[in-house]
Amino acid sequence: MSEELCRKVVSALERRGYEAVFAKTADEAANMVLQEAEPAQSVGWGGSETLKEIGVRDRLLASGKEIRDHKLEMDLFLLSANAITADGRIVNIDGNGNRVAASISGPRRTLYVIGRNKIVEGGVDDAIARVKRCACPPNCRRLGKRTPCAATGVCADCDSPDRICKVTAIFDRRPTGMPTKVIVVDADLGY
Ligand code: SF4
Repeated sequence: MSEELCRKVVSALERRGYEAVFAKTADEAANMVLQEAEPAQSVGWGGSETLKEIGVRDRLLASGKEIRDHKLEMDLFLLSANAITADGRIVNIDGNGNRVAASISGPRRTLYVIGRNKIVEGGVDDAIARVKRCACPPNCRRLGKRTPCAATGVCADCDSPDRICKVTAIFDRRPTGMPTKVIVVDADLGY
């Protein structure tokens, strides 16, 4: 069932102008990332728990790649998504917008790794709700932010200066001029 859903997302992404592939496991996705990074000297890092979980950072460093955190000029930018709709719309929410900015313009190529747990069957509103429910509270806790969701685990649509959901990007299609590939993985990765 989850493989069927992942493959549906891959087809939807292709219709929206992305190169998209299915990965059965986290290991398979990691090997795909390493293969994509092969010709790149500099690799940007989009601060992703998904990418940490699949263990590509150490392998990239071991292969001599220069990892750049949150810089715009690079050969390849790696990131995940906070949510994706089953019909292929990617939603990412940032505190300062640097990850979103780099996924739109700057790098030569962008590569997403998205686990099946990020897929929502509804529309963009459901995707945003997923981010506020599943991603922001644990991220606020991990980063030591003083927000209601860090304390209670539930979004209160706060007005805190520490709020990490300040910039919401909805990708209806691949951004013009940005070669972008998406690996959809039939595994739960990140949050
Ligand atoms: S709006 Fe505030 S409470 Fe809601 S998820 Fe974002 S940081 Fe947490």
